[in-house]
Amino acid sequence: MDYRAVLEEVAAYARPYVGQGQVADYIPALERVSPDRFGIAVADIHGAVYGVGDWEVPFSVQSISKAFSLALVMAQSHGSQGGNGTYGANGVQGGPGGDDIWQRVGREPSGTPFNSLVQLEAENGIPRNPFINAGALVVTDRLQTLTGDASTSMLHFLREESGNPDLAFDQAVADSEAEHGDRNAALAHFMASFGNLENPVPSVIQHYFWQCSIEMSCRDLAVAGGFLARHGLRADGSRLLEAREAKRINAVMLTCGTYDAAGEFAYRVGLPAKSGVGGGIIAVIPGRCTLCVWSPALDARGNSVAGAAALDHFTTLTGWSVF
Ligand code: GLN
Repeated sequence: MDYRAVLEEVAAYARPYVGQGQVADYIPALERVSPDRFGIAVADIHGAVYGVGDWEVPFSVQSISKAFSLALVMAQSHGSQGGNGTYGANGVQGGPGGDDIWQRVGREPSGTPFNSLVQLEAENGIPRNPFINAGALVVTDRLQTLTGDASTSMLHFLREESGNPDLAFDQAVADSEAEHGDRNAALAHFMASFGNLENPVPSVIQHYFWQCSIEMSCRDLAVAGGFLARHGLRADGSRLLEAREAKRINAVMLTCGTYDAAGEFAYRVGLPAKSGVGGGIIAVIPGRCTLCVWSPALDARGNSVAGAAALDHFTTLTGWSVF
């Protein structure tokens, strides 16, 4: 496969879509990003990386972090961190076996916007899935208990997996999220009232905002998400997740990773994917490669318009969807 040629063709196809839709404007720090950006990268399972356009420009990962926090909780919960485990903020390892995040969060598509409150009351404070905000707050809460510092654990993990030691939080984005964080605070308080948080609400939402604020490029994200294509193996060959756990994360990405557009996304692209309101989308082709595409203008559901078009064309050209 000539990845570079395929990516060039995908970028040309996506070009007319770039700038269609709207850049996230709920916080000023995101609103300032130019809608004209477009980049795409592919990291194959053997470590080769290819990219075109703005594929090395860092952007705000936002909800893409939800896939990584779930992976870390699953990895920590069975005590098999793989590698040298240096990403654990205080060296705390999850206990063997017993810990089960799925008691506290479901794995069904929500059919509602990513920040919706409506299902939580009827469903007793158990969010539908880990990739809407409510579910991600529960996962972050669990990661906080397991590591003592959820956001730093994730940052260290992403630095290791991407091979980019310069990854950092964007403090301005994190502060701005906190300043405009009433909705996320409401979700967290509501779940706390049902006994579904282990840590104080202010700490959980702060770590959640920091995780969302991490800046990464398409290159960094495609490489860091490699373990999802390698059935749980990290870049250095050590095991982060059992193969069946990587399968489950990919399955939940397929059914829930693009919020209330997951059905449409599966129809068009046919890959496990996780999007964020920074305009990034990672997508996994198990056994082959991990992709990341970025273009900041979003559709009404919060997914990158040009990013979805690019992934659609990628799977059409290559025939590499999971279907
Ligand atoms: N930080 C954003 C929020 O919590 C993330 C949402 C997203 O990327 N969909 O609202």
